[in-house]
Amino acid sequence: MVQTKCIVASTSASSVPHISSFINGEFLTGSGQTSLSINPAHPEQTVATVEWCGKSAVTDAAEAAAAAQKSWANLPGPARAEFLYKWAEQIQARSAEIGIAVAQEVGKPIGEAKGEVGRCIAILRYYAGEAVRQTGHVIPALAGGALQYSVQVPLGVVGLITPWNFPIAIPLWKAAPALACGNTVVLKPAETAPLCAILLAETAKAAGLPNGVFNVLLGDGVELGAELLGCALIRGVSFTGSSRVGAIVAERSAARNIKYQTEMGGKNAGIVLADADLKQAAGLVAGGAMRFAGQKCTATSRVIVERSVLDAFQAELISAVEALRVTDPMEADCAVGPVITDLSQQRIQSAISGLIGSVYSGQVPSEGFYVAPTIFRDVDPASDLAQIELFGPVLAILAADNFDHAIEIANGVPYGLSAALYTKNIPLALQYANRIEAGLVRVNGDTTGVDPHAPFGGVKASSSGTREQGTAAKEFYTETKTVQINP
Ligand code: ADP
Repeated sequence: MVQTKCIVASTSASSVPHISSFINGEFLTGSGQTSLSINPAHPEQTVATVEWCGKSAVTDAAEAAAAAQKSWANLPGPARAEFLYKWAEQIQARSAEIGIAVAQEVGKPIGEAKGEVGRCIAILRYYAGEAVRQTGHVIPALAGGALQYSVQVPLGVVGLITPWNFPIAIPLWKAAPALACGNTVVLKPAETAPLCAILLAETAKAAGLPNGVFNVLLGDGVELGAELLGCALIRGVSFTGSSRVGAIVAERSAARNIKYQTEMGGKNAGIVLADADLKQAAGLVAGGAMRFAGQKCTATSRVIVERSVLDAFQAELISAVEALRVTDPMEADCAVGPVITDLSQQRIQSAISGLIGSVYSGQVPSEGFYVAPTIFRDVDPASDLAQIELFGPVLAILAADNFDHAIEIANGVPYGLSAALYTKNIPLALQYANRIEAGLVRVNGDTTGVDPHAPFGGVKASSSGTREQGTAAKEFYTETKTVQINP
């Protein structure tokens, strides 16, 4: 029998880390209910035993964060920056261990898991710099002799609700700018990635972040999430996850008139034009679709190909996908690991079982929550396979008559996160960049990944419209105060 990823348990194993929520600089123990975080590649292997906190912990964490916020915000930017640099050092010092935790807790191939640790270090260093660059504007006043200026001020305590697929990078790409701008943080990570979140708490503590500045709550997402969204001390919410929960976050935040951002799904398309380097395009599409079992919101789930090169591209694509090794994420050459839970495995398999048009289905290990990399051809643009996000290693090939038709198909979905075009035709690439409905646009690159210092986010149903990362994140975590001083 397969296990679910997170199981409520009555006993805890002693050979694995036992973790609990982090509030006001302390790890909370004795809260009662315990769950297991398990390895999706080896479901019998427990990665951590987890003490779940109850909803009263949300108030405790928010109160601790509120008590710490004024003095944190009053620190000069360079002093806040020092803490972020020290946090980066602590992560660096434990990078091998944290990379393994990411690989074992969420099934991310170890190479990508190590890359995510490196990204976290880069994020902290980048926002340490941004903490120093807190700027405003001088605005000439109508009243003669008056000094008028605007400054960016922190929101206060912010709530971060995060998913499991980038279990350290997403919490940090929200927390680092929030802290740089003078906010304090209550993080509610995914139930399926608690160990990764607690490694962030441990390294924050080791870096000497003042008590209450960064808090982590482990527990039931629905219960803690509802409490967090209703907590009067929370003045902003940043969420990444499903469209369903994103809608709840938006509604609850709007009702409280607090700032929010929601980053949700995608049905990201690559377009392959007849003049493209087909081998190169196939390699990029294969990686974008299949690596980490397609569990990135920016993963390529559709590839739209000009009909004249459909057969040739399909052949290149299949050999590129075949070259991606499906194995235990701890293997150095793993490209495709398991999906996160048995429920995800069943959901994806039942969505594709019985569909016609499969031109490739790979081999998978017998143990673990694997889904075979699968490619379908001649997919109807209106079908579920071309419209609904599966979050698995499944790619739909769609045929297009020409460039305009390809753009029409690419834009014909509710989402608009990431997109890629493969061509040597620069005028068409420029047209594409203008016409494609996506927040992240690539030419001759894959749909996944973005530089940590560049804005990240989508359009249409993919996002509430704000952007994360880069300087864009500072806009979200602050509000503008306009000051006029008359003589
Ligand atoms: P995924 O499908 O990737 O797991 P979810 O949207 O279900 O995405 O979860 C993303 C985050 O939202 C997780 O931290 C989860 O615990 C949290 N969450 C789930 N349900 C709710 C809810 N009703 N209110 C607030 N947060 C929630």
